[in-house]
Amino acid sequence: MKIANSHSRRMPSDRAIIFSNFAIGYTNLRKSLKNRETIILGIESSCDDTSAAIIRGTEVLSNVTASQKIHEQYGGVVPELASRAHQKNIIPVVDVALKNANIDKSEIDAIAFTRGPGLLGSLVVGTSFAKSFAMAMDKPIIDVNRMYGHVLAHFIDEEGKDKPEFPFLCLTVSGGHTQIVLIRDYLDMEVIGSTIDDAAGEAFDKAAKLLGFPYPGGPLIDKHAKLGDPSKFTFPHPQIKDYNYSFSGLKTSILYFLQKETQKNEHFIQENLDDLCAGIQHTIVSIVLGKLKKAAKALDIKHIAIAGGVSANSGLRTALLEMGEKENWNTYIPKFEYCTDNAAMIAITGKYMLDKGLFADQSVSATARMPIPSQLNK
Ligand code: ADP
Ligand code: MG
Repeated sequence: MKIANSHSRRMPSDRAIIFSNFAIGYTNLRKSLKNRETIILGIESSCDDTSAAIIRGTEVLSNVTASQKIHEQYGGVVPELASRAHQKNIIPVVDVALKNANIDKSEIDAIAFTRGPGLLGSLVVGTSFAKSFAMAMDKPIIDVNRMYGHVLAHFIDEEGKDKPEFPFLCLTVSGGHTQIVLIRDYLDMEVIGSTIDDAAGEAFDKAAKLLGFPYPGGPLIDKHAKLGDPSKFTFPHPQIKDYNYSFSGLKTSILYFLQKETQKNEHFIQENLDDLCAGIQHTIVSIVLGKLKKAAKALDIKHIAIAGGVSANSGLRTALLEMGEKENWNTYIPKFEYCTDNAAMIAITGKYMLDKGLFADQSVSATARMPIPSQLNK
């Protein structure tokens, strides 16, 4: 029996086959879930963070992440070292997640893991762990697209925070992605705009490198920008069609500008560091929010969310809230812990996939590229 490996390639009949494979187990699971919430173990290892989380329903019981410091000295993530560190971290991280949640592994209903997108070697570690654990424990597995996770992190219970109403737009800004996603339902998403070259986080990190900051420099730009004048140095905005982005031109213009100025004054960067950071941050934030506003207007959507590591940026958060007030939006910004790569967002996506019976089988493999398929649930 041939079972398709990719959601994007899975035709309804393939899914029916997978469903029939799991039908008996799934029916038993549904029965046992009748009077209680699902307990899911989430595993995320797409880049340089090894994370495991336990959720019950939409409540996070634990979310444990081991970050990898080793990459700092190389100025970026080294894939081979990331894979090795994941191998070292994954079992202790899952163990701590279970302990913190006060859950025995036998109580888990399903294991959700990041299948993609990300670094292949890193993804393979999480995927292999999930498959082996599931086989040993006789539990079902759910293969999650991380980009769904970033969006669905907004549905994790957080005290005092509302959850977005459908349809909403989510701006996903991270080191690897810059996307505007239209969300019609939990698993019904469409990317309506994305970067054609660098991601917003990459733009922050590359600009930071030019200023002499260590990797990842995004948070350091943020820190210095707070003390600087954003209008002292301005950089051009790219002219890209529709709701798409481009950041590679910005990096080049910063590079040429710094080369020109440091030829005149070798201390130019040190003397103007705060203002340079403020100018760069202001430019990236206004590029990112400009397209978001355009999309929200065109689609007449008033519920706007952000996700991904760059949504930690204080300039972006403030500007989004200001824009939201002016445009009469309801804005949603998740807790920082759920913005960067984390297993809680994978577990909650697993919950919504489990509700639809969307399981994977043991033939599933990690995939570096995994676009958001539209209308997965149909
Ligand atoms: P990915 O896993 O796709 O690389 P993450 O979601 O882990 O992305 O986010 C990491 C990215 O977020 C890095 O590019 C980092 O510089 C950026 N970042 C994190 N915090 C900030 C901040 N306060 N300001 C700007 N960029 C930030
Ligand atoms: Mg990351």
